[in-house]
Amino acid sequence: VKARDYDIIIVGAGLAGSSVAWHLARLDSSKRIVVIEREHVPGSHASSQNAAMIRSLVFEDALVPFAIDGTLFWNELPHGIDRPGAFRRVGSLLLASHDATLCLFEQRVEQARARGLHPEILDHERCRHLFPALAQTPFLAAAYSPEDGVADPLCLVEGFLRGARQQGAELRKDSEVVGLLSEEDGTHGVRLADGQTLHAPIVVLAAGAWVPQLMEMAGLRDVGLRPHRRHLFHTSPCEHAIPGFSRKLPYVWHIDLPSYFRWEAGGALFCACDEDPAPPGRPEVDPKLDSFVENRLRASFPCLLDLPIARSWAGLRTYTPSQEFLLGEDPSARGWFYAAGLGGHGVTCASPAGQHAAKAILGQYASC
Ligand SMILES: Cc1cc2nc3c(=O)[nH]c(=O)nc-3n(C[C@H](O)[C@H](O)[C@H](O)COP(=O)(O)OP(=O)(O)OC[C@H]3O[C@@H](n4cnc5c(N)ncnc54)[C@H](O)[C@@H]3O)c2cc1C
Repeated sequence: VKARDYDIIIVGAGLAGSSVAWHLARLDSSKRIVVIEREHVPGSHASSQNAAMIRSLVFEDALVPFAIDGTLFWNELPHGIDRPGAFRRVGSLLLASHDATLCLFEQRVEQARARGLHPEILDHERCRHLFPALAQTPFLAAAYSPEDGVADPLCLVEGFLRGARQQGAELRKDSEVVGLLSEEDGTHGVRLADGQTLHAPIVVLAAGAWVPQLMEMAGLRDVGLRPHRRHLFHTSPCEHAIPGFSRKLPYVWHIDLPSYFRWEAGGALFCACDEDPAPPGRPEVDPKLDSFVENRLRASFPCLLDLPIARSWAGLRTYTPSQEFLLGEDPSARGWFYAAGLGGHGVTCASPAGQHAAKAILGQYASC
């Protein structure tokens, strides 16, 4: 029997991998865990390229409990992660133009209220009173969620990793997994770029946009998990250009004219909810996106048009066709686990998703 180097190897130290490590270490500190991260700074891909909004009301049925639990987690951060500024509880306004969307809002509001959150439906008039800049935005009504807000995702990655290490987990930074091994005796392993091989009965693929590549490397079934690029824009300070705009206002997301914006350092951080398939890596900004963004904003948030853009960037959201998270053991290949496919919800849902994967690894939940 081959010597085990670890009980569990986790590939990737973004929100997903660091959360799995933290939950595993809390649930069973006797396990020898290693987290392997290619970069020097954990969380330096999708986990730091996002809009950092905590959103409790989501539309995919399977994600509802994760979004609610994730929002509750951010509102009561555990000791060690609860650093000043980790979470700004400013609330959110999700706008609807269609009756069907409003109907779904009503269902989600009920579900969230049953779990102790306090969302409510606000009519057009009340929304405009709360947020005067919405005067030019077409919508019927909104779901207002006071417990939503803006988070510091890197604070969470660092907190998870610090907590996991305090319980004995090891973090190997600047270390890339370049090969995956599956032995006949049920031992799994990873080969690192420096030639070293590490063995463990369990390997967790938590490498964000790179998970599909790793799955292919290990001969695992393709479930359609793919990275998609999305752009974010940050304007120069513009509090005077947008009526009533301040750091205390909720972020605003138009569901039927997909786009959102929020306050960030005196300017507006906004997104036109573009998405196109992209290879894993650091995505470049597409200069041809300008007219798409302008048209979208003209329809949804004309108050943002013509504001000077200070910077723009793109990040990768990685998801399955159903948008359901990929958590737990591969149903047809024992020992391979996933904490992947967090799509556009990884900041909100990192903790419950990591907990779900950790419990599956420890045999407390069924596989995915
Ligand atoms: C534009 C944008 C906006 C978003 N806005 C929000 C939002 O407002 N709210 C929200 O909840 N979510 C949001 N998200 C989603 C959220 O950012 C992601 O769901 C989350 O960051 C995914 O985390 P991850 O750990 O799976 O991936 P990553 O953060 O990408 O981490 C994967 C890690 O694996 C490492 N890795 C990869 N391959 C290897 C290898 N071979 N060896 C070793 N290490 C490896 C990488 O270096 C990386 O650090 C947004 C995402 C984007 C792109």
